[in-house]
Formats: sequence, C-alpha cells, structure tokens
Amino acid sequence: MRETQHHHYDILVAGGGFAGSLTALILHSQGFKVCLIEKDQHPRFAIGESSTPVADMQLRDIAVKYNLPWLYDFSRYGSWQQSHPEIVCGLKRGFSFFKHYPGKDFITDADHKNELLVAASTDDIQSDTNWLRADFDAFLVSKVKETGITYLDLTKITSGKRTPDWEFECTRPGETLAIHTAFFIDATGNGILLDQLLGVKSASDSFLTDSFAVYSHFNGVARWTDILKKACITTDDFPYDPDNSALHQILDEGWIWMLRFNDKRTSFGFALSGREQSLKGLQTDELWDIMCKKYPAINNILKDSKLAHAPGKIIQTGRLQRKIANCFGPGWAALPHTAGFVDPLFSSGIAHSLAGVQKLTVILKENFNDPESLYTDLKKYEDAVFAELKLIDRLVAGCYLTMAHFEIFNAWSMLYFAATIAYEQRLLQKKPPGYFLGADDTYITDMVQESYADLLEIIDCQQPSDEDIKRFTKLVRERIKPINTAGLLNPSFKNMYRHTAAAL
Ligand SMILES: Cc1cc2nc3c(=O)[nH]c(=O)nc-3n(C[C@H](O)[C@H](O)[C@H](O)COP(=O)(O)OP(=O)(O)OC[C@H]3O[C@@H](n4cnc5c(N)ncnc54)[C@H](O)[C@@H]3O)c2cc1C
Repeated sequence: MRETQHHHYDILVAGGGFAGSLTALILHSQGFKVCLIEKDQHPRFAIGESSTPVADMQLRDIAVKYNLPWLYDFSRYGSWQQSHPEIVCGLKRGFSFFKHYPGKDFITDADHKNELLVAASTDDIQSDTNWLRADFDAFLVSKVKETGITYLDLTKITSGKRTPDWEFECTRPGETLAIHTAFFIDATGNGILLDQLLGVKSASDSFLTDSFAVYSHFNGVARWTDILKKACITTDDFPYDPDNSALHQILDEGWIWMLRFNDKRTSFGFALSGREQSLKGLQTDELWDIMCKKYPAINNILKDSKLAHAPGKIIQTGRLQRKIANCFGPGWAALPHTAGFVDPLFSSGIAHSLAGVQKLTVILKENFNDPESLYTDLKKYEDAVFAELKLIDRLVAGCYLTMAHFEIFNAWSMLYFAATIAYEQRLLQKKPPGYFLGADDTYITDMVQESYADLLEIIDCQQPSDEDIKRFTKLVRERIKPINTAGLLNPSFKNMYRHTAAAL
C-alpha cells in the first residue's frame, strides 16, 4: 500500500451515475474544482431507464445553460440515433397500460376497456428514450474525464470528518487517499453512505405506497404486439406501437415494466404490492415463477427469453420507498435519488434527479461562500424534494389501490398525466420550474389529495359499482379540467391519446 495521497477540491461528488456526473460537469463549468468518485467501474449495470418529456426538457436546458452541446442530442430519440447510435437506447413513444386478470388470457374490446395508451410525442424522431444506463452513464463519465474533472472509480469513502472543511479517507485498489473539500454532494442513489458517515437515517414509514421490485434484463422477450396479433386483437387504432413505449402490464398485485432497447435487450420487472400477503416471504425464483404462471400472457411474453449477460440474474429489492431524515447539513447535500424514492411507476425518477441537479448546482453557485444564505437555500431545496416525494407517493399509491379495477386506475392515472403536462407547460413557458411536477402548486396537491380521499371511499367497498366508477371518473374529469390540455378522459378517445406532451 502506497503512502496516503492528499487531494484538495472545492466539492466532492460521491456516486458516478448520470446525476453525479452531470452535477460534476455543471459545477466544473461554473469554475469549481470538483472530484467525482464511484465505488464501481463503468460500464456497470443500473436500473432506472425510461425518460420522459420533462427529463428531455431538463437535458436540453442543462446542455444550453452550461455549454454542454453534446448533451442536447440525448434529449430526443432521433438526434440520439443520429449522433450516438453506439450508445444503446430504446424508443419510447409514451406510456402504455394493459390490464391482465389472473388465470385468463388478455382480452379487451372495441372501446379498449383493458388498454390505455398515452402518446407523449407525435413521431419517433421527437420521442423520449429508454436509456441503457450502463452505456449512457459510462459515456457521461467519459465526458467527465475528458473535461479534466478528477474521476476516481473503485473508490470507497471509509470515513469523513469536518473541521471546518471535510477530510474524507478513501480507499482504492492499492492506495489510500485523503480528500479535502469544502462541500460534499451525495449522489450515491441510496441512503447508505450518509448513514455510515453522518448517521443520517432513511425510513419508509411516511409513505402511502408499499411496493418492491423483482427485475432483470432479458434477450428475446416476445413483442407484445405479436402476442396481441396471435390473439386476434387489433392494434389498428393504437397511436403507436406499444413495444416502442414504457409498456406496463397491470396485474391485480402490481405491475410489470417492459422497456425495449435497440439491441434486442429488454428491461423487464415486476413492481408488486408489499401488502400482498400471498407474496410474502417468497424466494426470488419462486416469486417470479408464481407471477408468470398466474398470468398466461406474461408467461407467453417471457417463454423464449433468456437472462442478458448483465446483470445475469433476477434481482429482488426490499421495500422501494425510503426517505432520509435530512436532505442537507453543514457542508453537504443529497441529490433526490439519495434523498428518497417512491416507485418506478410513471418513470418520475430520472426527471426528479435532474430537477435536483439543476437546483443544487444553482444554489452552490450563488451561495458557496455565504454559509447563511447557503443554509437558507438548502432548506428550501430540502422542502422541495420532500414535497415532491409526497406528491409522487400519493399519485403512485392511488394506482396500487386501483390495479384490480382498471377503469378506476385509468381515471386515477389521469391526475398524474394532467399534473405532468401542466409541469411541462411551466418549463416550456420558461417560468421558474418551482417544485417538480407542481408539488408547490396547491391546485395540483389539493386535486390529488381530494381525489385520494374520494378514491379511498369507493375502494373501501370491495367491488365498486358502475355508478361509483362513473362518479369518480366524473370527479377526476372536473378536477383536471383547468389543466387538461390533452383531452384526458374524453370518452370519445377511448383510452387512446395521440399526443399529450407539451413540448415538441
Ligand atoms: C426498480 C427501479 C426502476 C426504476 N425505473 C425508472 C424508470 O424507468 N424511469 C425513471 O425515470 N426512473 C426510474 N427509477 C429511478 C432511477 O433509477 C433513479 O432516479 C436514477 O437512477 C437516479 O440516478 P442517480 O445517478 O441519482 O443514482 P444511481 O443511478 O443510483 O447511481 C448512483 C451511483 O453511485 C454509485 N455509488 C453507490 N454508493 C456509492 C458510494 N458509497 N461511493 C461511491 N459511489 C457509490 C453507484 O455505483 C452508482 O453508480 C427506477 C428505480 C428503481 C429502483
């Protein structure tokens, strides 16, 4: 082991995911001396792949504001394919939902009673993407290095003390380092490091949602449209091919995500209710088999598939919901995915992370040398992140409550689509972004909270009547009306929305 090497920086960023890399790049462009450390080595497997129109707008904004022109191309499928076809991604035209019932083949009708397709963009070129995170994150790290930012992989922080600057002791293969820095950003995507270093705890008890995930990457996953075709279910009036979307298969116990990449890989995972007694205590393989066998169409989708080389196994998480006690403290702050997480439904994670990157880097630029104003702004940042998690939690919790009743699920999910489109409008009109998804807008938060209370009432009676469902749908339609620019819940659309994103 070599002698301890001492390094001095303004800011240390721990965690070389896309959020940590972008944070480092932005701070560097603002004149800070930055060090980015990563415990693994790129390319490495990561989950969290489906982007959204909001995430794409944020990428464009970051690209322009911080003179990172190469980033711009990743904000649309067309330009991504043109400039970087070697970085694997998938085409995501929107969000698709198909409802399955235990033991039954998938069925629907001419009114699409078991289908919901919400197109974001009108064509492939303008579309969102599914990021193959191993490729995309590795590319960002290559940009970090190219820019001259210190990047240390295979590096672990073993201790940290602040007197008044930080001194972090780190280990890398064959060496120990002492990193001296004024500020520390936790971009590790979980609360483990903050707990180890500072005793900042994460907890789940404030969440309404209770879910866990079981997932992997596969080769040879059947196309859903082929399965529909074989079952003689027409797709003629679909606004896009649902295999080119964030494809959700809705079950009674939760849902499945299917995100295809251009190279034949598919990200496939179950997100299941933690309250489902029949799933408690099952081993990963057993759980996987039970869920596949229970839903014949899902079994068909996977029957000829094989695990992809990475991660090469099925991964089961514990409860997904977590929130740290504090988002910041003296000399440190956490990015949103470190601060907390709800559930992958609606793919809000990437955009939430990018919103945090944008806010935190502005706060540091404006207040780095003024501890008092830094504290004030970091407190505002914390309030925002926690309010955002709360809004996402309620939106997602409502979905889990309604997964066995697709008509109600359909109505409930429109609260999310209305809120996100309103937020896209805010960004498009270059208004201050405020809280992510409008979590600072009482119209949005009241709309969701009141609808949640109404939802609990009808879900309480085990089998909601047609009358209940109609009444609830009408309530949601009324509540979203002032922000409903996309014709959501217009019965004549029959669950097929051809274009909803505010930005092209
Ligand atoms: C099952 C699941 C599915 C999801 N699906 C979606 C989706 O479809 N769309 C979406 O928008 N969001 C999704 N998310 C959320 C998404 O994953 C996150 O928002 C996103 O990964 C955040 O990126 P990040 O860079 O902040 O963190 P991460 O991607 O978690 O990256 C953190 C990095 O830090 C490194 N690291 C960890 N600990 C240390 C340490 N102690 N020291 C140094 N480095 C460390 C890790 O190796 C990793 O490289 C999903 C999340 C889950 C759990």
